[in-house]
Amino acid sequence: MSDNKNEKIIIANWKMKLGFGDSVKLAKDFSDKFADFKEESKTVVACPSLVSLSEVKKVLGDNVKMGAQNVFWEVQGSYTGEISPNSLEEIGCKYVIVGHSERRKHLLENYAMIHQKVKTLLSSSKLIPIVCIGEEADDRKTDRRDYVLMNQIQQALGGVNIGGDQKIVVAYEPVWAIGSGTALDPEEAKYAHKIIRLALNDMFGMKVVEANFKVVYGGSVTSENVKNFSDLEDIDGLLVGGASLDADEFLKICKNI
Ligand code: PEP
Repeated sequence: MSDNKNEKIIIANWKMKLGFGDSVKLAKDFSDKFADFKEESKTVVACPSLVSLSEVKKVLGDNVKMGAQNVFWEVQGSYTGEISPNSLEEIGCKYVIVGHSERRKHLLENYAMIHQKVKTLLSSSKLIPIVCIGEEADDRKTDRRDYVLMNQIQQALGGVNIGGDQKIVVAYEPVWAIGSGTALDPEEAKYAHKIIRLALNDMFGMKVVEANFKVVYGGSVTSENVKNFSDLEDIDGLLVGGASLDADEFLKICKNI
């Protein structure tokens, strides 16, 4: 991620969909297919499973950066099973997803934890946090979406110091759209991204938001619907789950955003 405010960032989240061998295979495929992908204004990131990170890094190639799917809020200590930001950096990660809705649901990760993680990442590492927010289907039905989004942003990032060349990605992922096969309607996406940007501007000031933040959309993006998101103001990229498990499909998405 650079200082170019027109740069798009496209993140592949392989979740826990692939074993070790298949993750390395897919990384090789990414490396081949993305070898000629030299669009300067686009950054591509792949987030494989934790156990495959080191090996994936060896085969990923130069055009795809590596990210992790989770991290802990301390850098060292008695935290059995947890992942230090320092270790992620050591093996070549540049990005890390924080507070994905699947972790919020299955592991009860909450915004207090997400806040701690972001703070530690910014103060103790050079990793770029990809902070996930997004409303549930019920919030949308009952017109609470704007409040939910602003509240999540406030809890995750309130009081966090961001300056200099520190970068942060906010991923707007409506929970109901993830893995559902139904992406957000472009008009609604445009509106939600406007709300998010206004909330960030309010907290950090427009200049900092322009220079240090990217806001991306995630939820059932495919090569078929990617064009819906490509020209939308305030959308700086995409977080892609299912469709990132096929290198050709993901390349099409990256070319068309
Ligand atoms: C995700 O995992 O963050 C995601 C957006 O998944 P999908 O593209 O499959 O909806």
